[in-house]
Amino acid sequence: MPSVERYRIAVFPGDGIGEEITAPCLDLLAQACAAEGDVVLDFHPLPAGAGHYRDHGEAFPKESLDAAREADAILLAAMGLPDVRYPDGTEISPQLDLRFELGLYAGVRPVRLVPGIPPALADSRAAALDCVLLRESTEGLFASHGKGTVEDDRVARDTLVITRDVSERLFDFAFRMAARRRARGRPGRVTCVDKANVFTSFAFFRRVFDEVAAHHPGIDADHMYVDAVALNLVRQPWQFDVLVTENMFGDILSDLGAGLIGGMGMAPSADIGDEAAVFQPCHGSAPDIAGTGKANPTAMILSAAMMLDWLGDRRGHEGTVRAGARLTAAVDAAFANGRLLPYELGGSDGTTAIASAVGAALAAGDPVATVPA
Ligand code: ATP
Repeated sequence: MPSVERYRIAVFPGDGIGEEITAPCLDLLAQACAAEGDVVLDFHPLPAGAGHYRDHGEAFPKESLDAAREADAILLAAMGLPDVRYPDGTEISPQLDLRFELGLYAGVRPVRLVPGIPPALADSRAAALDCVLLRESTEGLFASHGKGTVEDDRVARDTLVITRDVSERLFDFAFRMAARRRARGRPGRVTCVDKANVFTSFAFFRRVFDEVAAHHPGIDADHMYVDAVALNLVRQPWQFDVLVTENMFGDILSDLGAGLIGGMGMAPSADIGDEAAVFQPCHGSAPDIAGTGKANPTAMILSAAMMLDWLGDRRGHEGTVRAGARLTAAVDAAFANGRLLPYELGGSDGTTAIASAVGAALAAGDPVATVPA
């Protein structure tokens, strides 16, 4: 009997469409692991979010945070509701606090077009679009969150912070990711995205990048100013492999990237630190379509596949990595013939139709070489 690899997964269904996309996602995760035979996930659903705040007066109960810390990985659907706010009027988004609490500095935003999804760009090369944006997620301009000032109603200030410690770890992560991608047939090149021609902080960011690049001589490294990257992401995104950037630039560019691959319902993500990681779709709780069955579960399913890939890589367990590859391949197979089209892209396939198609592809499927970044 082969030994079974077990993982404890903290699950946050959260708000809005969160619950609806979580249930089929967990079923598909279990199915992908069962197909391998030696991987078992123990799911621990936990309360948190805007609805929980409305009903119980706290957005992220301590017990939930403690359970998340003890888990091997955290899978989160969506949190936040527009009409539920803190007394100061700000939105309830405890998932953002998790990034700071757990030191999740590497925000991984794959920009890969699922075959069969209509590309945003007309060029035939757009069909093979597959790059990844790495967004630093704990500092940059967001270091000023909650600390900005307004002086005499005349001047407002927010301060951008770049530290050597976090930048080195981020760049190291980027080069390791590029090496893994190269092993899977991608170019394996890292581009530092900055504004080093104007700001001292970004000149420092670039200098640290060059220092880290020198420790990875086998991987190509280059730089590009953020404005040029924005232009080229629209004109010829297939030229990129791994892009690494500051928090605010990454926030903006990752939505641009999502637009290239069919929108928020198709865009997975991971926020990864040295000891913990959160996997969640890029979209929010989409309260306008909650309860209608129209939510696209694909971004969450692809995020779950990234989770398996990360868990397997961390433990050195091939079966877990393969289960992730199976799930990604099943998503690709489900959409490949172009007949499955989510509501948000003008089609008429909702949560159940998409999840069933992925489940059928998993049942039929072979793990193919397609793997998450
Ligand atoms: P947040 O501020 O939390 O990111 P938001 O309100 O800006 O949230 P989303 O909740 O991500 O944005 O969604 C914007 C719109 O996109 C939604 O109102 C919904 O119509 C559509 N949308 C988002 N995610 C999905 C999905 N998974 N399936 C279908 N439509 C979606």
